[in-house]
Amino acid sequence: MSTTPEAAPIARQTMAIHTGMRKWTGIDCVAPPIVLSTVFERPEVGDPPPDFSLYTRYNNPNREMLEETVAALEGGLDAMAFSSGVAAINAVLETVPHGGRIQIPRQLYMGTRIALQEIWKDRLRIDEVDFSDPERARRALSGAKVNLIWLETPSNPLLQITDLATVIAKAKVAGAIVAVDNTMATPILQRPFEFGADIVVHSTSKYIGGHSDMLGGIVVTREKGALADRLRAVQRYGGAVPSPFDCWLARRGIMTLPVRMYTHVENAFAMAEFLEAHPRIEKVYYPGLTNHPGHEIASAQMRGFGAVLSFQHKGGEKAAYEIPKRMKLAYNATSLGGAESLIEARKHAEGSASSIPDDLVRFSVGLEDPEDLKRDLEQAMSGF
Ligand SMILES: *Cc1c(COP(=O)(O)O)cnc(C)c1O
Repeated sequence: MSTTPEAAPIARQTMAIHTGMRKWTGIDCVAPPIVLSTVFERPEVGDPPPDFSLYTRYNNPNREMLEETVAALEGGLDAMAFSSGVAAINAVLETVPHGGRIQIPRQLYMGTRIALQEIWKDRLRIDEVDFSDPERARRALSGAKVNLIWLETPSNPLLQITDLATVIAKAKVAGAIVAVDNTMATPILQRPFEFGADIVVHSTSKYIGGHSDMLGGIVVTREKGALADRLRAVQRYGGAVPSPFDCWLARRGIMTLPVRMYTHVENAFAMAEFLEAHPRIEKVYYPGLTNHPGHEIASAQMRGFGAVLSFQHKGGEKAAYEIPKRMKLAYNATSLGGAESLIEARKHAEGSASSIPDDLVRFSVGLEDPEDLKRDLEQAMSGF
């Protein structure tokens, strides 16, 4: 079976199961093998080399399956998988000319900020903009020439929402390339290409892998062409490629990505409402709550509000550190997107230089029964 089902229009839920899966000629397996061979025998002289004929750093069947699938889910035309989400982010930054100007959100994933600080700050001019504030975004974009605008919505860990349609339209007028870190939403809940983004980035270590057992990243481009070619060159010759096994795990994770996301979102919603109504909770950050400043925009541009939320307890910093330790079901651990709930005092993970509140607790809501999670939170919070 070598036909791919993309010829007919199919839903994302069907793509998650079938896209890229039937590329094995001469083997009738339903679940794909993991191709560990680093080298592939040359074709007969004169034959055009098949896509992954040469060497596994250039391409690999498991990697190609993953790239094809994430590109299809996002509605993009090309994708390059990397060995981590951060490697994918750095690959995008490699496409900015030396001395170029980029704009980043004031609040964004810590690892992106650290990469900019440690690797890029002498090579790029980096401006911070509060893109969650439409007026500030408008002013920032009507100024100097910008090469790349980096967006992250919902943001990690404060769940700030950026109006993608408005900001991207203004960025286009300014001639900037727009990249969106879509890790927190996944293509099931939000597709930045629908709003005109040029690049979408994911840490596949999170929801795409979905089981806290692999590390990876991917860059998807809306078009084929020069930008995609440049990213492919950074992937192949920069060499930060994922292993076939990690690609296989990520592709397997995608089989259940849609159904996992539906349940993740339902559970997170239940937790947000529970916490919001709790007398000892000071503040809940979750775009699904009507009092969240980005609620209306998130309702319009997302299909579900994601499954990470943050909160502050009236017991302050002490409570923020003790509650995760006392949880019996959720792990007191960093990261997000696994089937198991993960909870942490976020300031501890980000360090003292971070501007997030000292007493912020970040909660990646897993796939457990929501009533069990509520009971777990209730017992962990009692006494504070
Ligand atoms: C985790 C994360 C990354 C980085 O991914 P790694 O796979 O850990 O390198 C990037 N962006 C966001 C929003 C993340 O949560």
